[in-house]
Amino acid sequence: MDYIRLADILFPDVTASPEDMEKMFPERSLPEGACVTRIGPSPTGFVHLGNLYNALIGERIAHQSGGVFYLRIEDTDNKREVEGAVETVINAMNYFGVHFDEGAVSDGDNGNYGPYRQRQRKDIYHVFAKHLVQRGLAYPCFLTAEEIDALREQQTAAKENPGIYGKYAKYRETSIEEVQQLLDSGKEWVLRYRGTETDEYISVNDAIRGKVEMPRNNMDFVLLKSDGIPTYHFAHVVDDHLMRSTHVIRGEEWLSSLSMHVELFNALGWQQPIYCHTATLMKIDEETGGKRKLSKRKDPELALSYYQQEGISPDAIWEFLLTILNSNYEEWRLADQESDYRDFPYSLSKMSISGALVDLDKLRDISKNVIGRMPAETIYKEWLNWCDEYSKDFAELIRKYPERTVAALNVGRMAAKPRKDLETWKQACDFMSFYYDETFKISDEMPAECDEASRKQFFAEYLASYDHSDDSAAWFDKVKALTEKLGFAVKPKDFKKNPDQFKGSIVHITNMLRIALTGHANAPDIHEVSHVLGEDIVRARLAKWC
Ligand code: GLU
Repeated sequence: MDYIRLADILFPDVTASPEDMEKMFPERSLPEGACVTRIGPSPTGFVHLGNLYNALIGERIAHQSGGVFYLRIEDTDNKREVEGAVETVINAMNYFGVHFDEGAVSDGDNGNYGPYRQRQRKDIYHVFAKHLVQRGLAYPCFLTAEEIDALREQQTAAKENPGIYGKYAKYRETSIEEVQQLLDSGKEWVLRYRGTETDEYISVNDAIRGKVEMPRNNMDFVLLKSDGIPTYHFAHVVDDHLMRSTHVIRGEEWLSSLSMHVELFNALGWQQPIYCHTATLMKIDEETGGKRKLSKRKDPELALSYYQQEGISPDAIWEFLLTILNSNYEEWRLADQESDYRDFPYSLSKMSISGALVDLDKLRDISKNVIGRMPAETIYKEWLNWCDEYSKDFAELIRKYPERTVAALNVGRMAAKPRKDLETWKQACDFMSFYYDETFKISDEMPAECDEASRKQFFAEYLASYDHSDDSAAWFDKVKALTEKLGFAVKPKDFKKNPDQFKGSIVHITNMLRIALTGHANAPDIHEVSHVLGEDIVRARLAKWC
């Protein structure tokens, strides 16, 4: 068969050669050991936690090694494309502090290895498609979807492997004349790789999983679809070669097609990148208690937008993902509370290969610690940024009272065991609302032990003797004296021992005071809060109870 002629018939417009492509996209000049990594999200408008998970690994290993991290938009699947999806990916990654050195940007490309949107690379793929045809390694296939379905049924019934291979590859040896006729009659075709019938095994050294073995590809898989757009398999191999990726970090769902990729790298005479197949994100199912994959339909936490909407600080997400990603991260963090997570020496070999567990309680815990370590001014800034996007009224409020807000954020932070009240920016709006008259409301009920008469008397006398300049000890002495005067036990254990002798204990009194001042029984130190609020607000809030 004259494959050169066949190639010319199929790709009459392709004049460039693979060598031209190699010259256009030369090896990068980077320091020894520098890694080039990427993420390749599809522009579906849905950015999921897995995208960030893989991005973070790529970002770490590229930037730790002085390499390049880039964004490639994998838009070969036309049906799934959503307008504005590229911006969505970029914005989401930016929000989480993942920055690309090169790749697709909202209005084009940034870098010398583009275009970075696969649909714009059609001509590049066709150069290599033509080259494979010329070498007899690819051929046009005219099987219709119905014919393929029928074949699959027949193969299944005969307990044979389904697919186009060997004797089932009907168009493998079609003559040039026949191909020309079929083309002339307008019949749709795809370009298939010519698989080898083999029972060989191949092995790949996955940087996360170690050696993985699998049967060598024997399928005539599709390289170009009928519209000339490549499949993921072909695009992946061409792009990661020409963009000079050193590592391909992607979900383990791609392991099953790895043999096709290895086949193509070999056929094209290219060196394979280092594959890093990451574990699937899992969660504990609330109903069954078992582990299962995160599902787009059932689990809002799979969407990256969930974490943005909830106002989880990007630092907390990083910290959380690093905890899942590297088994020694928690230990490192415990030994070093102050360092930036970017100082952690991230390593592919410390990754787990069993499912990565996404536990939102753990995330909240981590988030509390992360916010707990942040200076109040940083919290203010990050929280305000979030409010500007998701809670405009609150943004207005904290912008109106910047000093009070920063002072409020500092309450309880200087203690030996600092309070960890803040979990997310959304929850912060709720938790901090009592600091502003505009949002202050009484949420908890006054303790039943404090009847109306004692309540009125308490607040009247408290206000009469209130001196805003009292230090914490002087203030507390006054509270104790008043507690006693009202017939409440100053020591809670006295009340416990002899409940009949007292109306209640100092705990009930301070709870009452705390609720009047903050609306909640569980709130930070009353003396500190009073000083953040200022004397006028304190007096006004308490006077309502007299
Ligand atoms: N477009 C692929 C996906 O969304 C990317 C896989 C890869 O990184 O190679 O799963």
